[in-house]
Parts: sequence; structure tokens; C-alpha cells
Amino acid sequence: MSDLQKTTDILRDLIGFPTVSVDSNLAMIDHLATLLADAGARIDIQHDPTGKKANLFATLGPEGDGGIILSGHTDVVPVADQDWTSNPFVMEERDGALFGRGTCDMKGFIAACVAMAPTFANAITTRPLHFAFTYDEETGCIGGGALVENLREKGLRPALAIIGEPTEMRVIEGHKGCFEYTTHFTGLEGHGSSPDLGVNAAEYAARYVARLLDLKDRLRARAPADSRFDPPWTTINTGGIHGGVAHNVIPGKAHVDWEMRPVQPGDAELVKRDLHDYCANHLLPAMQAVHPDASIRTETWGEVVGLEPMIENAARDLVMELTGANGADTVPFGTEAGLFQTLGMDVVVCGPGSIAQAHKPDEFIARNQLDQCLKMLHRLTERL
Ligand SMILES: [Zn+2]
Repeated sequence: MSDLQKTTDILRDLIGFPTVSVDSNLAMIDHLATLLADAGARIDIQHDPTGKKANLFATLGPEGDGGIILSGHTDVVPVADQDWTSNPFVMEERDGALFGRGTCDMKGFIAACVAMAPTFANAITTRPLHFAFTYDEETGCIGGGALVENLREKGLRPALAIIGEPTEMRVIEGHKGCFEYTTHFTGLEGHGSSPDLGVNAAEYAARYVARLLDLKDRLRARAPADSRFDPPWTTINTGGIHGGVAHNVIPGKAHVDWEMRPVQPGDAELVKRDLHDYCANHLLPAMQAVHPDASIRTETWGEVVGLEPMIENAARDLVMELTGANGADTVPFGTEAGLFQTLGMDVVVCGPGSIAQAHKPDEFIARNQLDQCLKMLHRLTERL
């Protein structure tokens, strides 16, 4: 059976596991663990605190440092409110493309890696090859964070990681981070005719947004001269301002949804410190002078760290060689790559399928994308 046929068969099984982020991924993890164990891999299943989800870390070849990680997330985005031509959890082939939720983001890559496992197992002599399949990437890289933490605790230092997010097999060496927050303001309701007797949560939220606008300008000025990103600086977006019930009522509650996309870790620290100090020294004292229970609380939705382009990056150089690419690029979407980078590893993002098809109804992956991915993995075999 050809590798492409094997990959397609495995992918069909993986699509049948409806691993939407809110639901368990354990059945799929067990299935992958069985396939990899059959190929001779050592299996380590790492559960989350609820026990309903798990990461799979599997290793072929010798123990120790210096290995290569092939990484992908097992969860998919929901299909609710999407209009699909066929059942999203039953893979269908039409015109050389495979349709189903997760085909491109990113079970196609996982299927290709697992299909190649027996070939890898035969080829490996000198360095370990690891498979890292995670949970809850789509909801803020929770599983990836836990997996990287586990590596840190074990003191295991693989050298390179290839993250197979859909890039149409282009070599990606950088992306911005994505940090999402909701900041809640609790004031004191009152009659609109007596503003001094209440604490107007909407007005404090407005001051907070004004501070975000100041920060936006400061971040623009901090853009690294050699930034590879578009736009080259860290951006902030106010995604929503909510609060209040009527023209003549002082709003007691308000909240601001906002995000930032850091190009360098220092920017995120600057923003967080600045907002913390601004609230602690200015907004809160004024609010609490009227109503001691007034508060400001920031809720974190996700902090996906960026992948910083590096001058020296052995993972990028390797994958450029394997794919024959003559350059590396950056992308606007976030991945788990930056997490692995925090371990001091060289990391690159390269995988089959297009991000344009991800998260959409009728998500698909073209068979020739899987074929290109398998070619890359075959050439990788020669380096093991
Ligand atoms: Zn993805």
C-alpha cells in the first residue's frame, strides 16, 4: 500500500473522532498511541487535570536529547452554525480533495506522520524522533503549554521541532503572539442625575480604552528595525465595549474585550505592567474613593506566545532543505511553535493544506498536499 493510501486511511479514522475542543480527545489519543506503539514507539500519555483530555508524546529511537519533534494538535474547531455539504466527521473525497473537520487543521499532518512511523522506525540510528500530539490548541494552546512544561520538568531537550500547521508546505519561521483578554469594571449604580453618588463603570472602561490607544502609539514606536512582520509592530485591538442599561442610569458594570499581538515578548510585559500600574494608581483609587468595593479584573482568554524569527534556526534550515524551499516566511496566525521555542529549541512551522480552508465549512485538504508532506517526511528519514 502506498504511503498516501495509508495516510488517507488513517486520516479517515481521525476525522471520525469528533475532537471539538470542548469535548474529550481521549479516544483519538488512544488510537494514535496504538498505531505508534505498533511501529515500536515508546508511549507517554499525559492527561489534563480533568482527565478528559490528553497529550500524546511518543518516541522512536534512542533516549536522550537532540531529537526532532513532529507536532500537531488533535482538537478541531466546532461545526455548529456551519453549512456543510457532507457530514463533517465522515471524510469524503471529491475531486482530489478530502473533506472533513480537521482535514487540514491539522489531522492531515498527524496522519502523514503516523503513516510514516514504521519507515522512521527502520531508519533511525542516531537521534530520537518524537511525536507530540496535543489537546486544546484552538482554545489557547493549553495542551501545548502542558506538554512543554512536562519536557521542562523531565529535563528533556530535543533540538528541533516541526509544527505541521497548514502552510501549504511553505516554511514559516515566525508569527506574532496572540493575547486575548476581557477587563471587567465593577462600579456602583445610581441615578444619572447624580453622577457623584455612583461609580460609572462605563466611563472607567472608556478611560481604560484610552490607555490602550496610548499604548498602541508607544508600541508602534518600539517596532524592531528588522521586524519581519506586517505590520512590523505589536498591535492592540479593542474588540468590544459593553455595559449600561439606560440613558439615565449610572452603569454599575462594564467590560472591554481586547487583544494584543506581540512581535517581541518585552512588548507584552510593557503593556501588562503599564495597565496594571494605571489601574492601581489612577483608576482604582478614584473608583474606591466613592465605593470601596469597586474593582477592575482582567480575565485571560489565551496567551499564545509568538514564534520569534531567529538568525540561526536549524529547524528552518532543515525543512528548507527537505522541501526545496528557497526562503522562509512569517504568517499572521498563531501556533504552538512559540511554546517550544521557550525551551530553547529551534522551531519551524510547515504542514500540508491551506489556512484558508481551516475553521470553515467544507474544510478540505488536497491529496497532493499530503503527498508533498510525505515527500518531506521521506527526506527526513535520511537524517535520522
Ligand atoms: Zn491548527
